[in-house]
Amino acid sequence: MNLKRKIIPCPFCKDKNSDPMSGIWPFCSERCKLSDIGEWTSEGYTIAGRASNTESDEQENS
Ligand SMILES: [Zn+2]
Repeated sequence: MNLKRKIIPCPFCKDKNSDPMSGIWPFCSERCKLSDIGEWTSEGYTIAGRASNTESDEQENS
């Protein structure tokens, strides 16, 4: 068979085994998908956490 499948490496671990039919494509595994999403959501949590930390610090100071 000469079917050429477009191969896109997993965005997280750069593994080229990601399967377009897997439902988690372009990630190679559920773990990579969750890890990648977790990375950018934790960034948002960090900013939110900083804001609330600053607030409680001010309360303690005054
Ligand atoms: Zn991966």
